[in-house]
Amino acid sequence: MFCHQCEQTERSNGVAGCTTDRGNCGKDAPTSDLQDLLLHAVEGVAQYASAARQLGQADPQANRFILHAVFSTLTNVNFDADRFLPLIHEAAAIRNRLRDAVAAESRRLGTTVQPLTGPAAFVPAADRAGMLEQAKTVGVRAGRETVGDDVIGLRALILFGLKGVCAYAYHAQVLGHESDEIHAGIEQTLVFLAGGPTDIEALLEQSMQLGRLNLTVMQTLDAANTETFGTPEPTVVRMTPIRGHAILASGHDLKDLAALLEATAGQGINVYTHGELLPANAYPKLKAWPHLAGNYGGAWQDQRAEFANFPGPIVMTSNCIVRPHSTYSDRIFTLGAVGWPGVRHLEHGDFAPVVAAARALPGFTTDVPAETVTIGFARDSVLGVADQVVAAVKTGAIRHFFLVGGCDGAAPGRNYFTEFAEAVPQDSVVMTLGCGKYRFNRHAFGSIGGIPRLLDLGQCNDAYSAIVIASALAKAFDCGINALPLSLVVSWFEQKAVAVLLTLLALGVRNIRLGPTLPAFLTPNLIGVLVERFGIQPITDPAADIAASLQRQAA
Ligand code: SF4
Repeated sequence: MFCHQCEQTERSNGVAGCTTDRGNCGKDAPTSDLQDLLLHAVEGVAQYASAARQLGQADPQANRFILHAVFSTLTNVNFDADRFLPLIHEAAAIRNRLRDAVAAESRRLGTTVQPLTGPAAFVPAADRAGMLEQAKTVGVRAGRETVGDDVIGLRALILFGLKGVCAYAYHAQVLGHESDEIHAGIEQTLVFLAGGPTDIEALLEQSMQLGRLNLTVMQTLDAANTETFGTPEPTVVRMTPIRGHAILASGHDLKDLAALLEATAGQGINVYTHGELLPANAYPKLKAWPHLAGNYGGAWQDQRAEFANFPGPIVMTSNCIVRPHSTYSDRIFTLGAVGWPGVRHLEHGDFAPVVAAARALPGFTTDVPAETVTIGFARDSVLGVADQVVAAVKTGAIRHFFLVGGCDGAAPGRNYFTEFAEAVPQDSVVMTLGCGKYRFNRHAFGSIGGIPRLLDLGQCNDAYSAIVIASALAKAFDCGINALPLSLVVSWFEQKAVAVLLTLLALGVRNIRLGPTLPAFLTPNLIGVLVERFGIQPITDPAADIAASLQRQAA
């Protein structure tokens, strides 16, 4: 196996990447290799789906399959090698159907099409051993000796960004929000990769195109969430449990959480959010459920200890699952794209085993004294007080905004983000999103003239809210986003953060601080390009980075 798609990748062996029989996340070599092979097969699907689209025959089944399949390969989603075998065969079957449809339509139009080559001609081996043999030639470093590390790095940047795009698009699609623009853009990106691109400028332009596509996808997901569940509103969320049977929902998928709440209504079972589902508590149609009892625990990397102590079943609606501890492996369930060998996988809507497990377990036996956080400062909540915010900036009451957000992780260097947020001067505001917020969201930040100093915008995809807010402020001050008193400090872990980063770069946002380390798949040359064109900087010391941000604004 070779995998270097996340921040947690192995960096101690001279080659930055997980290369042994198991990655640092727990992904074993067969799963990693079969994921590579699935992506190869998906490129073939996209080649024929794109050809069909050009003939006016966009294919909904292919569109949705691509989202699900690519999402399955994102870090901490699916560790079950056996789940990838049918996906690879399904890819070939969809590709064959599209190929035949393209040929038939071409005949009808009196034109001829040559069979497509590359991944479009891939024929999966009949069994697992054969597929693992095939996977050896299609990994992320295929052709490295010929094209060099910079090309491999840029292809990886696009592929990994695309994984994030597909994850967001999947969450929107299950809520009924999708578009030809999104599916065509995803197909185009896969077709581009299938062609084995080698031109550095073309690769850079494709990465910016993907960033623009991701803005559309995040906007679509924002619309899906808000039209389905209402616009998030400032909400005080209980972070400690109350007495009673309990179910814990983790991951990102609001639709799955809504279905779980519906399935458990009136049954005397409390549902708690975990990780990136904390923002769900701010959506009117979700928080209206009386048995949505609050949030339990924090970010994904602490789940083994937190799940072990949770006295009820756990439902993983998306990433980030890690190897279940034996103390709870019989009461954790997966949904959708998520998988772990031996863990029970639920069909959508069938929560009967979860309810039965909740009833069989004791739940919490006492009320733990209430601790709370306030969330729900997505775009509308902040823009609703935009006049107040603008006035506070003009009078100098608010000096600066720091967006400190992104994914969390276990690396010791991530304490930087805690120290950074807590060291932000009292006359400045911290905006946050993603699960990185758990490092400081219980800190008492106070307020400035009634405006909270900590504004929790939501999940990582609510970077869209941050962009809307920044754009509105830029309009109010008649300047560009880069001229605002705003600094971005981004913690990244997996591929959705790559997609968001590409969006910010495509929008021309400069001087982003990125950590805890820079992506291992970027070569020194490529990092040089990002520094030169976008002013990207690695994080250094919290106090020094805050001072530099304020100094840049003053200059
Ligand atoms: Fe390694 Fe990350 Fe890949 Fe897991 S997802 S194998 S930790 S690079």
